[in-house]
Amino acid sequence: MRRCIFCQIVKKELPSTVVYEDDQVFAFEDIDPKAPVHVLIIPKKHIATLMDVPDQEETLMGRMILVAKKIAILKNVHHRGFRLVINCNPEGGQSVYHLHLHLLGGRGMRWPPG
Ligand code: AMP
Repeated sequence: MRRCIFCQIVKKELPSTVVYEDDQVFAFEDIDPKAPVHVLIIPKKHIATLMDVPDQEETLMGRMILVAKKIAILKNVHHRGFRLVINCNPEGGQSVYHLHLHLLGGRGMRWPPG
């Protein structure tokens, strides 16, 4: 069975540019950035999509958003603004099936997204 690429990144079996790490959350630079700042924030444990997050994982989901806030400051986009995105399942545009929060910044974001 092919292993999840983001699980391999968490275990450092695949390279990434690490931006943040704690006991539950890992963040790294997107390999194909869609904005000058594009960081992926993921749970260390494998959860395929937002729909697979158990209801009792409120703390983990809150941690991911608070980590995004820290990274926004680190990347100096907190005043200008930035966007957080979770793509879920095919019509949501999800391509990697390990839950991830995109932090996008450094340019003006359009609305609605494509
Ligand atoms: P999504 O389309 O929401 O599933 O987003 C997946 C994201 O993962 C895309 O923005 C990809 O550029 C990014 N990605 C895929 N493989 C890697 C990798 N090895 N390292 C960093 N980012 C990756």
